[in-house]
Amino acid sequence: MGAGSKTVKDYIRTIVDFPHEGIMFRDVTTLFADPRGFRMAVDQMLHPYAGSRIDKVVGLEARGFIIGGAIAHQLSTGFVPIRKKGKLPGPTISEEYQLEYGEAVMEIHDDAIAPGEKVLLVDDLLATGGTAEAGIKLVERLGGEIVGCAFIVDLPDLGGRRRLEAMGMDVHALCA
Ligand code: AMP
Repeated sequence: MGAGSKTVKDYIRTIVDFPHEGIMFRDVTTLFADPRGFRMAVDQMLHPYAGSRIDKVVGLEARGFIIGGAIAHQLSTGFVPIRKKGKLPGPTISEEYQLEYGEAVMEIHDDAIAPGEKVLLVDDLLATGGTAEAGIKLVERLGGEIVGCAFIVDLPDLGGRRRLEAMGMDVHALCA
């Protein structure tokens, strides 16, 4: 396939049975490693928000930092990380959410978003939506307003989009 006809999806590799048996892991490192693929993903994730006011891009650990940092640079906005419990050095607020097995906690610095700021939430992949929901709650608790939730991949069978749309979110993904 010529580079000119490749889509974002063509740059993403699927690893079977990682990190557990039965999981089809969508590996976006092959997309990030390709200069054309990476730029295409950043440009396409921004496209729905052309003309919208965005003050901060919030990225979810860890691959959301890579794509979110590039998007923030392109928009000339600040970037804010949401991290797994215990990783952020300053005062934080936290949200617990359910994983397939057990619970996890995500955190944001309590001064990272000012009330009324418009936020674009970014991650590599939307599965059940639990991680993104925790991120949305953290941003909203600080008074931020989510303009949209942007993902590279949506796995529609896992219900994440429905879950976020039920919260009133505008959800965009580049491929399934
Ligand atoms: P969820 O909270 O179920 O929507 O899961 C989304 C988070 O888990 C994202 O941060 C993804 O990076 C990661 N994730 C879940 N399932 C996969 C998968 N099949 N391939 C790659 N990453 C995944």
